[in-house]
Amino acid sequence: CGIVGYIGNDSAKEVLMNGLERLEYRGYDSAGIFLLNRDGEGSQLFKEQGRIADLEKKVSDAQTTNMGIGHTRWATHGVPSAENAHPHQSNSGRFTLVHNGVIENYDSLKQHYLTDYQLHSETDTEVVVNVIEYFALTEQLDAKSAFKKALTVIEGSYAFGLIDNEEPGKLFAAKNKSPLLIGHGEDFNTIVSDAMASIDLTDQYIEIHDGELVTLTDDAVTIETADGDVLTREPYTASLDA
Ligand code: GLU
Repeated sequence: CGIVGYIGNDSAKEVLMNGLERLEYRGYDSAGIFLLNRDGEGSQLFKEQGRIADLEKKVSDAQTTNMGIGHTRWATHGVPSAENAHPHQSNSGRFTLVHNGVIENYDSLKQHYLTDYQLHSETDTEVVVNVIEYFALTEQLDAKSAFKKALTVIEGSYAFGLIDNEEPGKLFAAKNKSPLLIGHGEDFNTIVSDAMASIDLTDQYIEIHDGELVTLTDDAVTIETADGDVLTREPYTASLDA
C-alpha cells in the first residue's frame, strides 16, 4: 500500500520509519523495513503484522545503516501476517523487494520458473523477487538486467523497490499503474509511493513513468526506458495541501 526507500548519509532506519508513519493514513495491515549499508554490510530485515508502532519496537535496536526500503502492506495475496509482510527476499537472500499492486500471472510464473524454489509466503511479490534471482543466476545477469528481464514476463500493477546485496549502494525501482516517485536531495535520493513519505527531507520530486527502470545512488538518478534509452527529467516542486 505504501513504499519508502532511501539512500544517502542519514540513518535509513529513521527516514524509513518516519516515512511509513506518514503513509499510515492510507491504511495497511502490516509493515516492514530492510536495511543495508552502502558497503554491503549491516543487512537487516524487520517485519510485523499490525501497527507501525509495533514494528518500531522491533527496529529500535537495529544497527544504523545508510540505505534501505520500507513498506506498508494492504494484503491482496495471502493473509495479513509477518511472513506475508514485505520486504520479501529471494531464496539466496541476495535480492530484497517491496511491492505495491497485484501481479496477475504470479501462479504461471511460479510454475514456469520457480519449481526448484522454496517460497516462504503466500504473496505474489515473493514470486517476483525469486524470478529476478532466477534470471540473475541462470543468465548471469546483473541486478538491472535481471530486474528488466523480470519486468518483461510479469503482468499486473506494480510499484517496486529493489536492492541487490551484491550491488550495494544502489536502489532500483520500476512501476506500472501504481504510483511511485523519486524524491531528490543534495546527497540523498528516495523512492516513495506518495511525496508525503519524504516531504520533510525534500520537496523536489521526479516522476517515474510506466515501463521505466530507475537506478538511484546517493548522488545520481538514472532513468531508462525499456529499450535502454537514458532520459533526463527535471524535478518538480511538490506542495502538500495541509
Ligand atoms: N500484492 C501484494 C501483497 O499482497 C502487495 C499488496 C500491497 O499493495 O500492499 O502482498
